[in-house]
Amino acid sequence: MITRMSALFLRTLREDPADAEVPSHKLLVRAGYIRRVAAGIYTWLPLGKIVLENVARVVREEMDAIGGQEVLFPALLPREVYEASGRWEAYGPDLFRLRDRKGSDLLLGPTHEEMFTLLVKDLYSSYRDYPVILYQVQTKYRDEPRPRSGVIRGREFVMKDSYSFDLDDEALRASYELHRSAYERIFTRLGLDFRTVAAMSGLMGGSASEEFLAPCPIGEDTFVQCSTCDYAANVEAVQVSVPDVSAQDALAHPPLEVLETPGTPTIETLAAFLGVPASATLKNLLVKVDGEVVAVGVPGDREVDVGKLEAALAPARVDLLEPADFDARPDLVKGYVGPPGASGSGPAFRYYADPRIAVGTAWVTGANRPDRHARHVVAGRDFVVERYLDVATVLSGDPCPRCGSPLSVDRGIEIGHIFQLGRRFADTFGLDALGSDGHPIRITMGSYGIGVSRAVAAVAEQSADAAGLCWPAGIAPFDVHLVPVGRAGQPEAAEQLAQKMAAAGLRVLLDDRPVSAGVKFADADLLGMPTIVIVGKALIEGQVEVKDRRTGERRRARVDTVVSELAAS
Ligand code: ATP
Ligand code: MG
Repeated sequence: MITRMSALFLRTLREDPADAEVPSHKLLVRAGYIRRVAAGIYTWLPLGKIVLENVARVVREEMDAIGGQEVLFPALLPREVYEASGRWEAYGPDLFRLRDRKGSDLLLGPTHEEMFTLLVKDLYSSYRDYPVILYQVQTKYRDEPRPRSGVIRGREFVMKDSYSFDLDDEALRASYELHRSAYERIFTRLGLDFRTVAAMSGLMGGSASEEFLAPCPIGEDTFVQCSTCDYAANVEAVQVSVPDVSAQDALAHPPLEVLETPGTPTIETLAAFLGVPASATLKNLLVKVDGEVVAVGVPGDREVDVGKLEAALAPARVDLLEPADFDARPDLVKGYVGPPGASGSGPAFRYYADPRIAVGTAWVTGANRPDRHARHVVAGRDFVVERYLDVATVLSGDPCPRCGSPLSVDRGIEIGHIFQLGRRFADTFGLDALGSDGHPIRITMGSYGIGVSRAVAAVAEQSADAAGLCWPAGIAPFDVHLVPVGRAGQPEAAEQLAQKMAAAGLRVLLDDRPVSAGVKFADADLLGMPTIVIVGKALIEGQVEVKDRRTGERRRARVDTVVSELAAS
């Protein structure tokens, strides 16, 4: 197949789009792969569409190889089904809702557990029907609070979602293992560097769950890896072992002392003012738990991980305080919050803390008055922690929960998620199989997602360089970008080469535009095909130049053998 750039629907841009912050987003727009329609909503242009389809093809091949069968659900779904599972409510504002002319509520599917469960219930009834794995490659809708990074976090995006249905837990584990190995093959074939990490299962409930993360500085997920053993986990799922300080004597500390600390509303300003490390201070985040104000204390060098906090307090609802909440409660002194009791008399709120704030530990913390902090504030003596929660962020160097060696902390893009759902949805919809003994067996399920459109950007993010995109061979829109420069027979020679390449099964992009060599070279680098073949001056010697886009390495090759060389590689 030959595609001629003179006819290709493409305009490359020299300037980065104003709204793009991450490299893959800038390059996918500049190279003419995607165009923005609205926040988090993109059009796939010809080159982008080919890559998207190539990624989907790899996903389909590996899903088929583990026995998955492809179906396709609508995106437009009735409210009742999601009402029954509780997710019409639970999804909150992330769900796109709409109403038809008869006044019935509908939604645009964010994920399809309910629909698959009902489909299997509809058609299968006997234990002989199981196990079964169904999947789809389908457009999903989520009204993300912060759509960004182009197609990495869209409000409309393509997901492969699959669902396994099994008769017992052991069979579920087998289906889960099949998916994990399929995912490893998929991400390897996509040319991604990835890590499989322990995860939290979020809204879905369920137990065992892992995420596939593509390490990358702009990733929104943070994960830890042990320096010694193979432990790796999303920080949301890490349970850090807490130092044993219970032996400390609460009374051994000097008495609590209130200090004047003008203009120190942040940990940084406070630590600098008093000349103490941030880890010696106690940071207190005020939140509303089902509407009631709670302070959550963590050592000052850490943050409260709000995701972990929500999970720890679920099903209670956690909200951050708004400025209006402070206006309504003058006893809550922003920037100078401390545990109630830390300054003698105090405000009224509940106090939860990280286990590091153990009884007997002493802290510098807010005195609940403007410009005042207190020191020698001792847990168990000057204040009481009503509840301990493991919700502090993990820091690089924290001990591995499995072996105690230091953990490293990195960022990654979540490209896939697998989890053992168990019987949550089967219970909701009464999905049973009739067993051989005539008794019903409740089906147990797994749910598995891959961000197909996000994976395109993740590959771009990991592989691109300063000059442009740089696709791995398996998913590039074309195998060869053929660039004739000069007019002394080069266009004709390039045309002939293109024909031969196409006949040899190579997918060729031929730059037949009447533009300068410089423009052609810059575009070839920007578009990112794995191999660039330059038909230039060396043609007189019967040679062309072959450039490896990834390494930048250039070599001469003979016109009469280059096609067979490339077809064989
Ligand atoms: P995230 O934490 O990034 O929002 P999620 O946990 O909501 O992801 P899942 O519900 O597990 O994601 O969806 C399965 C996969 O779909 C994810 O692993 C991710 O690759 C992809 N995905 C999820 N949300 C988006 C989005 N807004 N845009 C593009 N891809 C997405
Ligand atoms: Mg999400």
